[in-house]
Amino acid sequence: MKRIDYPEPIRAVVAQLRRMPGIGPRSAQRIALWMVTARNARPGEIAEAITELEGAVRSCKTCGFFASGELCEVCTDPARQSDLLCVVETASDVLPLERTGAFRGRYHVLGGRIAPLDHVGPEDLSIDQLLQRVRCNPTGEVILALGADVEGEATASYLAALLKEFPLEVSRIAQGLPAGGGLEHADELTLNRALSGRIKWV
Ligand code: ZN
Repeated sequence: MKRIDYPEPIRAVVAQLRRMPGIGPRSAQRIALWMVTARNARPGEIAEAITELEGAVRSCKTCGFFASGELCEVCTDPARQSDLLCVVETASDVLPLERTGAFRGRYHVLGGRIAPLDHVGPEDLSIDQLLQRVRCNPTGEVILALGADVEGEATASYLAALLKEFPLEVSRIAQGLPAGGGLEHADELTLNRALSGRIKWV
């Protein structure tokens, strides 16, 4: 007997949904069926929003955080402290730090971390741009808010060595962050403590 499956258009949506992070086969199927059966689902609006996203969001020219124009909201905010710079691995690390309310400086997104096994070297990260920023803007302190795992540590050491030639303080957020995880996995209180209890790099 022929095995019955959902019609091809549904299977096509399921296949596309499964490409998204965190969506397994069951969730993909549930979402696809919801699109077909729910009366007010309006999947067209979802498709439209996704299409509009393309090209509408880019990396801030200065710091690398998400921006809808040339510069992000942090870089264009005159109230932010411009001599305090917080270096993070990815653009998604910025908001967890923002939510703590403990940081009023600016950010620099590296775009990853040094990971020889994944063929990511210093030249693949925005390290030159970081040095350029520090060179051109009076900077009092650079906080390294990188992961607490081996690669995060190695990247932090590498940056600290490069930043030594500038007349500024280098610090790192205090330990206590989940090992191997991005900052988005840390809760606000932990991040707040990690930021305010930051340790001077020696
Ligand atoms: Zn920016």
